[in-house]
Parts: sequence; C-alpha cells; structure tokens
Amino acid sequence: ESEKSHLLAAIRNVPDYPKPGIQFKDITTLLNNPEAFHFLMDHLVKRYADMDIQYIAGIESRGFIFGAALASLLRTRFVPIRKPGKLPYTTISEKYSLEYGVDEVELHIDAFSHGLAHPRVLLIDDLIATGGTANAAVNLINKAGGECVEACFIINLTFLRGDEAIKKTTPVYSVLEID
Ligand code: 5GP
Repeated sequence: ESEKSHLLAAIRNVPDYPKPGIQFKDITTLLNNPEAFHFLMDHLVKRYADMDIQYIAGIESRGFIFGAALASLLRTRFVPIRKPGKLPYTTISEKYSLEYGVDEVELHIDAFSHGLAHPRVLLIDDLIATGGTANAAVNLINKAGGECVEACFIINLTFLRGDEAIKKTTPVYSVLEID
C-alpha cells in the first residue's frame, strides 16, 4: 500500500486542463519515473500472469502505452481500440453518448481471428472517469467475438461511479482509486 501511494505520487495533477474545474491526472510523469513505471508493470504482470489472457485491448491513446507493454511482458497479442477513422482496415464500431453529443470506438474486424472460439480479452486504459469510453469498448470486444474477462484501469475516479455500468457484465480492476 505504501508502494501504491508512491505510484499515486508519481501522477501529476494538472488543474483546469482541458477546461476550468477539471483536475487532469497526468500519467506522463509516471512514465518518466522508471521505478514507478516498473512497479506498476510488475504489479499488472503479477495480477494477470495466471488469468489465461489471450489478447490485451488498449484504448487510444494512453491505453496503448500500458497495454502494449503488458502484452509483451505476458506474451499475449495486443489490439488497439481507436477513435473513428484511425484504423486502416475494415472495422466494427460502437457508439456512446457524451455529455454533449456522441463518440465512437473502433476495432479491426479480424482483431480476434486466430482460431479461438471465445478468446479471453483484457481491456486496459489509463483512467476511467464517466465510464462511457470503457463501457463502449467492452461492448465492442464482445461484438467482435471476444470475451472481456476484466477491464483494468491505472486510475479510477470513483466519485464519478463510471465503473457501475461495466460491473454489471464485466469485472473491473483499478490499481489506484481517487475519490
Ligand atoms: P470516460 O469515458 O470514462 O469519461 O473518460 C475516460 C477516457 O478519457 C480515458 O480514455 C482517459 O484516457 C481519458 N481521461 C479523462 N480524464 C482524464 C484524466 O484526468 N487523465 C487522463 N490521463 N485521462 C483522462
């Protein structure tokens, strides 16, 4: 637990970014801290090493950093979940609503096509706030034939209760909780 408080201390709080009133959690300072970054990846390896994960799906863009590093350490495959129009091949997509308007996440149609009937997929992102992005990503993984075995976040802003919708279908794990 004292290690987790060191990890939390490695994340920078940026007030009023991207707009007034928001306290942005900046994980670049964690990436720029070798001890903290290694502690985090080691912690994730220990948690997921024996869970028979076959794919790690990372959400653009900070989910790519942690997801790709973890996939290499666990020797699983990595698949990117991206914002619309970024993936070059045929995609499937899932829309979700924002406070104002809608957004969408996309996945390559053949991302999980390696002969496994229901491949075990771990979803990862740096942070869950309202949960809109991650919930859409879980739905997208299931739509693509994957079984999302857990949604993992480095930081959970628990006061926003963003994990509640996801928890109805999928276990949620957060390394750090901020309330
Ligand atoms: P949600 O859909 O849960 O409201 O927002 C989560 C998404 O927005 C994640 O992809 C996350 O990277 C990004 N995000 C929202 N707020 C923050 C923040 O304070 N810090 C970081 N690093 N990412 C954030």
